Amino acid sequence: MSDIFDPAALVRPDLEELIPYQVQVHHNVIKLDANENPYDFPPSIREEIWRELGNHTFTRYPDPVAGELLEQISDYTGVPADGILAGNGSDELILTLLLTFGTGGRVIITPPTFSMYEVHARIAGARTVNVPRKGNFDLDVRGVIAAAKNPDTRVIFLCSPNNPTGNATPPEEVAEILKNSRSLVVVDEAYQEFGGESCIPLLMEYPNLVILRTFSKAFGLAGLRVGYVLANPAVVRQLLRTKQPFNLNAFSQLAARMVLAHREEFGRLIELILQDREELYRELAGLPGVEVFPTAANFILFRTPLPAEQVYRELMANGILIRNMHGPGLEQCLRVTVGRRDENRLFLEKLKKILGL
Ligand code: PMP
Repeated sequence: MSDIFDPAALVRPDLEELIPYQVQVHHNVIKLDANENPYDFPPSIREEIWRELGNHTFTRYPDPVAGELLEQISDYTGVPADGILAGNGSDELILTLLLTFGTGGRVIITPPTFSMYEVHARIAGARTVNVPRKGNFDLDVRGVIAAAKNPDTRVIFLCSPNNPTGNATPPEEVAEILKNSRSLVVVDEAYQEFGGESCIPLLMEYPNLVILRTFSKAFGLAGLRVGYVLANPAVVRQLLRTKQPFNLNAFSQLAARMVLAHREEFGRLIELILQDREELYRELAGLPGVEVFPTAANFILFRTPLPAEQVYRELMANGILIRNMHGPGLEQCLRVTVGRRDENRLFLEKLKKILGL
C-alpha cells in the first residue's frame, strides 16, 4: 500500500468529471459579465441598514426561516408566507430542490440555459436529460412533455427570462407543461423584474409549480446572497428537510428586508436599465454582421462575425469584461449585461473597433 494519501481515490465516482465552478476575479474592469445591477446601492437604504445593524447582536444564530423577511416577500409577491423559503442565493435553493427531489431520479433541462441546474443535479446525484430549445430559443413544449413522461422524472427546470438567451416563456406554455406532468416544474424568474410575465398567478392552480427568485439582479444584493422559492406550502415543507438550519445569515436577512421596504427606489433603477437596454439593443442590432437576440432581461445575447473568444479577449484587453457563451446552439455568441450608460457606450465603441467598423 502506498503511503501517499490521495483523497481523489475516495471521492464519489460520479463527481470525477465535475469541474469546480471557476470565476476569475478581475479588478479595474468594466464589469458587464454577471448580470448584476450596475448602479451604486441607494445611499439612504445603505444608511438605514447600517443604523439597524447597530441594534443587532451577532452573538446569536439568525432566524432559521427568516420569518420577518418572508412576511415582506409575501407582501411583495402576494404569495402566503408558508409558501416561501429563503436561501443563500437562489443557487443554494437549486441545490436544496435537487437534494430533496432529484437524487437518484431524472431532471429535465432545456439548454442553452443557466449552467447551475446541470452542476447541482450532478452534485445531488440526479441524471439530467436535455430537451434543447428551438432555433429561436423558444421552449420545445411538446419535447419537454414527452421527456417528462418517463416515471423517473422528478424535476423540470425552465428559466424565464432565460439566461443566457434573454427570451421569456409565456405562462400559457408553462401551464401546458404543468398540466401534462406529475413532476415538479421549477420556473427560475431571476430576471423577472426586467421583463416577461411572472408565473405567480399559476401557483394557485398547480401544486407542482415552484418559482425561484433572487435579490442578486434587480435588487442589487448579489454580494449578500439572498434568493427565495415560491411554491405550494406542501412543497416548502419537503424542502425544509434538506435546508441547512441557518442558511441565511442575519446581515443578509436584514439587508433584504430593507431593500423590499424601499423597493420603489429600485423601481427607478430598473426603469433606467430598461431604457438603456433598448438603446444598447438598437445600437448592437445596427452593427453589420452582428445578430442580436430579443431580450426580456438585463442582458443581451449577440452573435459576431468573428470568433467569440477573440472578441472576448480583445474587449478584455480594453478593460471590458463580458461573457463568451460560445458552445452548442450558441456558436460565436457573447452575452453582455446592460451597464450604466457610460459603460454601454464604451463597450459599443470598443466592439465596433474590434469588428473593424
Ligand atoms: N438563476 C439564474 C437564471 C441566474 O442567472 C442566476 C445568477 N447568475 C442565478 C439563478 C443565481 O442567482 P443567486 O445570486 O441568487 O444565487
